[in-house]
Amino acid sequence: MAREIGDVLFDADAIARRVRDLGRQLTETYRGREPVLVAIMKGCVLFLADLVRAWDGPMDLEFITAESYEGTEPGQVRLAVPDGFADRVAGRPVLVVDDIFDTGATLEAVRETLTRLGAEEVRTVVFLRKHGPEGAAAAQADSRRRPQPDWVGFDVPDRFLVGYGLDLDGRYRNLPYVAAVRDG
Ligand code: 5GP
Ligand code: MG
Repeated sequence: MAREIGDVLFDADAIARRVRDLGRQLTETYRGREPVLVAIMKGCVLFLADLVRAWDGPMDLEFITAESYEGTEPGQVRLAVPDGFADRVAGRPVLVVDDIFDTGATLEAVRETLTRLGAEEVRTVVFLRKHGPEGAAAAQADSRRRPQPDWVGFDVPDRFLVGYGLDLDGRYRNLPYVAAVRDG
């Protein structure tokens, strides 16, 4: 294992169990409907691939990219959507799929765009959600935080994580587990 990689938080088995569980919940929630899953590239690809295989029902996939950019305004997010995207989400129930929820700026920007494009409904699922040292419950209760995701795979401490889609400068996305990057 690379020297940069520290503690493993979730191994492949734990991830598989949790993602199958989410797939079952989503199958129930969307029974009788046909949602469009809007996946935020690239971090969510492993999660997405496992989630949709645990999903027993009709649905379609769309891919967008989101980049935070450094500017005077914190939390500004630039979105890129493919040609014809608006026509494919208008009037549809949309489920946004992302790798990790930190400040919530990314999901807020995506939600605003989808609402503007006329999605019938926008819900969100993230593989991981970060919380501060005060813990997950406190983070959820904190009204200063942006709207929370509708489904969360795991709550995680505020450390930089890699694996299962998450990268460090373009590496480690292919690790089958989630690990923290070593300090220093
Ligand atoms: P937010 O907009 O919620 O603050 O940040 C969400 C985005 O920041 C994620 O989609 C992800 O791209 C990136 N991010 C946040 N925390 C981590 C982390 O621990 N590891 C990696 N690889 N990306 C992260
Ligand atoms: Mg991302």
